Amino acid sequence: MKVLLLSAEVEPFAKTGGLADVAASLPQALRDLGHEVAIMMPGYRRALYAGRPVRETGVRVRVPIAHRSLEGRILVSSLPGCDVPVYLVDYAPYFDRSGIYGAEGVDYPDNCERFVFFQRAALEGIRMLDFQPEILHCNDWQTGLVPVYLDEVYRPLPGSVFRQVGTVVTIHNLAYQGSFWHLDMPLTGFDWSLFTPDRLEAYGRLNFLKAGLVYADQISTVSPTYAREIQALEGGRGLDGLLRARKADLHGIVNGIDVTIWNPAIDPHLTARYTVKTWPAGKAANKTHLQRLAGLPDRPDVPLMAAISRLDPQKGWDLVVDAAAELLRRDLQIVILGTGEPGYERTLQQLAKEHPENLCVFLEFSQPLAHQLEAAADLLLMPSLYEPCGLNQLYSLAYGTVPVVRSTGGLADTVVNATPETLQNHSATGVSFTEPTAKALIRAVDRALELYADSDTWPRLVATGMNTDWTWHRSAEQYVRLYERVRHQRLAEHPA
Ligand code: ADP
Repeated sequence: MKVLLLSAEVEPFAKTGGLADVAASLPQALRDLGHEVAIMMPGYRRALYAGRPVRETGVRVRVPIAHRSLEGRILVSSLPGCDVPVYLVDYAPYFDRSGIYGAEGVDYPDNCERFVFFQRAALEGIRMLDFQPEILHCNDWQTGLVPVYLDEVYRPLPGSVFRQVGTVVTIHNLAYQGSFWHLDMPLTGFDWSLFTPDRLEAYGRLNFLKAGLVYADQISTVSPTYAREIQALEGGRGLDGLLRARKADLHGIVNGIDVTIWNPAIDPHLTARYTVKTWPAGKAANKTHLQRLAGLPDRPDVPLMAAISRLDPQKGWDLVVDAAAELLRRDLQIVILGTGEPGYERTLQQLAKEHPENLCVFLEFSQPLAHQLEAAADLLLMPSLYEPCGLNQLYSLAYGTVPVVRSTGGLADTVVNATPETLQNHSATGVSFTEPTAKALIRAVDRALELYADSDTWPRLVATGMNTDWTWHRSAEQYVRLYERVRHQRLAEHPA
């Protein structure tokens, strides 16, 4: 299979969230399965200076934007540690800027044309590159128009190389749709006749993601439960009707974790490395180290609960703030690592000042600390209001840290709630709760603390989690099946 993955973020070139991790890990896993894969992304300043070698391909592309014709070029780099090519669509006026989508929290006003340019330039570039994909795997709104350009512009061209090329659109977070005012429509070059609710329009605006969901051959999102939730009014963000209409083509594939980075047996950030056989001693050493670092009492037996995430309402911080005073009455240490909304930062800082004995808050973005916390903690708290997939709970499972999660999206699909039945059949890996309330959160933490105190049950819970397979290999095989489905679909529509 020949697959080109299009993404606005790819680690280590440019990252604001989980999309960048997926866009780097999935292609490697596909290649390990024997497929031919390349990546295409915008040539942002930070991507060109990410420390990876970047070369010219010699390919120049001309892209119409409204009445102008702009010339960009395609550069090429590669993922570290493997030779998956990363094509960079370069046009300095759009991408030689400090930010990816904006600066100082404000989106660039020309994001519509920046990403129209990226998508058209990508398709123009593909026509001239050595690599001829069978599948274009688009990700999120920044690539949502690609299936539209294919159908409306590129496939109908005489002798088109795109005749049998199929598309997958993956939704990483439905909250971000690339919705622009209607007068941006001419930037796309599409006829106004496409500006209808069954095509590119959503609620009077031009909507890139919606357009992709209408035109894609197949659609996926990053967990089966999220795939169901976005078909309901409450989770659909205005697109639930469309997603229900396309439900036969909508698949949930859980993300994997990169075990070269997230593996307690080889993690260079840890004080002590450990495996499923040596975790009690390993975690104890990491815990002592973290307690000192966090200025918390050096107590090996007290349960330690971590939270690592963006300080955003999505992640359930309102529940945490409401539950904090009660939780801190328990014999429990809490360490929080996060950055984000200033309101949460101030509240958490204040709480930490009031409870120096059992709460420490790190308001920073630190990869080493994230690793150390996963290794040191007994519990991870992740009470998200919604969660397309979630990665931290997967890291926690691998690190023997029992997740306490709200049962939503990918959290529901990856954490097996401890009940008498799942404990008995040894499938339990964590504790989950459903109601988005502080009371339900506190009850869940209390249940986890009871399990922690039970010296028979706890080691089993930890070991079951550590033994679950969340490697990318598993997910990549599911994507391959999806690509095969697309290929059959296209062959049926356009026989060779
Ligand atoms: P999302 O993509 O919605 O932010 P995920 O759980 O899918 O949530 O991924 C978040 C990633 O960002 C994880 O790898 C997590 O460890 C990391 N992360 C979040 N906040 C921090 C932080 N303050 N310091 C270090 N890593 C963080």
